[in-house]
Amino acid sequence: MKLIEQCEDLLRKILIAERRSPHSSSGRVCQICGNPVANPSLFHILNKKDFPRLRLDARNILLAGWWCCHYKFHHDPYFARDVVWPRIAELLGPDWEAQLKVLNSTKPKLDMLELSKIRLDFQSRLSGRGKGAL
Ligand SMILES: [Zn+2]
Repeated sequence: MKLIEQCEDLLRKILIAERRSPHSSSGRVCQICGNPVANPSLFHILNKKDFPRLRLDARNILLAGWWCCHYKFHHDPYFARDVVWPRIAELLGPDWEAQLKVLNSTKPKLDMLELSKIRLDFQSRLSGRGKGAL
């Protein structure tokens, strides 16, 4: 697995642990529709292609079910416009887009050195040794 994919996999585990819901027996829910999901995916609010520096920033990521919302977001522009964007504004506040774009401009490029540092940080958070340990 590529380094960036390892980082995404670790981040997914961290977010699943951090964003557990009391409304689901597994604690895993889609943050867009609220339904329980076995394996939530990383939904990038500002997309990975145009905003690669936000790819591993939790503030740009929702946990989402693939079939209930993530897939539909990518294939149905009405669903994106009528359901997903309003939900993001509800979760992040009305200025979410401007705030995320400022964040993007302050983040370092995800080169190999930066990815190695992030992987180490995520690993220590997951194992309970780092700052903000789980
Ligand atoms: Zn959903």
